[in-house]
Amino acid sequence: MLETGSLLILCSLCPHRYGVPAHAAEQFEQTCLTQVFPPARRQRHDLLLTKTTMFSPAYLVKACVPVYRGVQHPGEFMITFPRAFHAGFSHGFSCAESVNFALPDWLPMGALSSKMYRELSHMPVIPHDQLLFILARQVLSGHRADTIAMLQPQLSMLLADESRLRALHREAGYHFAPVASSEEDRSLYCARCRHACYASYVRCACDEKRGFCSCLRHCAEVACDKCKKVTVYERVSLAEMETMLAAVRQAGVCLPF
Ligand SMILES: [Zn+2]
Ligand SMILES: [Zn+2]
Repeated sequence: MLETGSLLILCSLCPHRYGVPAHAAEQFEQTCLTQVFPPARRQRHDLLLTKTTMFSPAYLVKACVPVYRGVQHPGEFMITFPRAFHAGFSHGFSCAESVNFALPDWLPMGALSSKMYRELSHMPVIPHDQLLFILARQVLSGHRADTIAMLQPQLSMLLADESRLRALHREAGYHFAPVASSEEDRSLYCARCRHACYASYVRCACDEKRGFCSCLRHCAEVACDKCKKVTVYERVSLAEMETMLAAVRQAGVCLPF
């Protein structure tokens, strides 16, 4: 469920590929969960994130899920769009290669994917918040119109989210601190939802020793009851985010038509 587009390149025999379009993704997921997987496995929260099950497309056709079939020949490539599901099999020895890619208009899909991974408590494949900051820095040196148009609303939403959640934690009496230099470049993930905590994270004193942290959404769930002092670490301050967003907006305004 990476949710990017993917490019499949084939160099040998002709495999059969099956695909379910993005608009039917939810219908596909529901059908798998209720009609394909045995009841004992349906409770696994990450069932749809694993690539271990092969089943007949007849299950999907019966449930009115649109399924398309294609046969890929040597030298041909196939593109799967974000949120579309695909599977296939070869008829013998096969040599193929695939690559995931994302264009600027994928960013809203990336935000959705990040939210879904959080809900499933699954480590993200692409840390979305970090990606936005990397793109913002690139945009400010390169000024690509299509990237700016898609990036600006995503950055605005991230800033609004961080502002709202940090304000709630201030009201709750949490301490605020800049991140220690030893943690600046470390990848940190929420102990509850596995969100990549790029802009901020929360820790109590014993979490410091254990190396645990939580995102701003889950500190109440993860916090222990021994420590009184819980700290919100700001890896990127709100002021920095506001400055970056203003610069991206300005870059958009200055673009030639
Ligand atoms: Zn979390
Ligand atoms: Zn503690």
